[in-house]
Amino acid sequence: MMMKKPEESLSSYSIDLIAIEGDGSFLCPKCGMTISPEDETEENYKVIDTTVVNNELTELVIECSKCRTTIRLTGFQQQ
Ligand SMILES: [Zn+2]
Repeated sequence: MMMKKPEESLSSYSIDLIAIEGDGSFLCPKCGMTISPEDETEENYKVIDTTVVNNELTELVIECSKCRTTIRLTGFQQQ
């Protein structure tokens, strides 16, 4: 179930990876292109910012390479 949070930014989307099954790939909220955080070639997206707490990635801000929408990824599962 998606958790609804107050809008932090009017121009960016937010995706909670906890709500995503499988390898963590998802569709761009704007253009629908498949984006996979596991894809290190960064062909489909570009990493803009990362937030690391205690050496664990907690937040990733990426930009869709196709429509240039900024997407904030949260909910990284600690393994
Ligand atoms: Zn897009």
